Amino acid sequence: MTATAPILEVDDVSKNFEASRGLLGMPLLSRKREVVRAVSEVSLSLGQSEVLALVGESGCGKSTLGRVIAGLIRPTSGELRFAGISHTVLSAAERRDWARNVQMIFQNPYASLNARQTIREIIEEPLRVHRIVPKSDIAARADELLDQVGLDPSFGKRQPHQLSGGQCQRVGIARALTVVPRVLVCDEPVSALDVSIQAQVLNLFADLREELTIAYLFISHDLGVVERLSDRVAVMYLGRIVETATRDDLFSSPKHPYTQTLLDAVPKIGRSRAHSVKVSGERPSPLDPPSGCHFHPRCPHATDRCRVEIPHLKAVGSNQFAACHLYE
Ligand code: SF4
Repeated sequence: MTATAPILEVDDVSKNFEASRGLLGMPLLSRKREVVRAVSEVSLSLGQSEVLALVGESGCGKSTLGRVIAGLIRPTSGELRFAGISHTVLSAAERRDWARNVQMIFQNPYASLNARQTIREIIEEPLRVHRIVPKSDIAARADELLDQVGLDPSFGKRQPHQLSGGQCQRVGIARALTVVPRVLVCDEPVSALDVSIQAQVLNLFADLREELTIAYLFISHDLGVVERLSDRVAVMYLGRIVETATRDDLFSSPKHPYTQTLLDAVPKIGRSRAHSVKVSGERPSPLDPPSGCHFHPRCPHATDRCRVEIPHLKAVGSNQFAACHLYE
């Protein structure tokens, strides 16, 4: 499904959480434990230096999947492979190495930085802990990283609260780059920034990809950003991937009814402005997802089969896959 050999593979990965829901009118003691299936049997691959966008409404599980891929939470089932090596066969030390190769950029640049540290301390800490460069080279490497993300090394003396949102996000990117990762999982990295700053940070992501041969899993609800930066797109709905395609195929000829609904919400003229995902009807609760195809209560094409049978991803074009009974 990728043009180059995959650097990262996600195979049949699921992530469940336990949640408690008080029963109507019942005391807390009788509360019921329920399972939220945040991510269900997801398979994806990411080519070297590829940008794969992961899109969908908020709460669809895309951030959870990003955290599983970045090694921040363990999957309930399924397998992750980096450069062909399964996560499950690695020793604890090898897993730490694996995790170094897959770094995460967070949505809120302020919250992701330690407010008590200076920018220089934030950048130098991983260089020191992971022994990326000799001690004598740490300061020079920190300056180099700040320069690489478009910040003057003099910013090193400041603290996060003395920086703008865009500058903080640049520091977050520099910190992720300290360990020379091969993959960046970027979770809504520009959604908290002003539109003018968003463009600058997106340019930075594009430049770094060229310079460092780095791959991105780019999580976003913003189709304008996705259209601008991605090579391929995966569309997620209630924990499942419902369509994957090259960016051009997805935007010119979306196949899954959910993807079509997402794109219908984006005006064709003036697409340069960012647009948020909007679909009609209420999104079902992940605590009690609809049977069969999760999208059937909102789908204009739903049939009886859709209500009982889960559709799986099938080829609907040379580089396009959709999970929908319409294509069988
Ligand atoms: Fe709609 Fe059925 Fe396709 Fe689901 S499987 S998207 S309900 S047509």
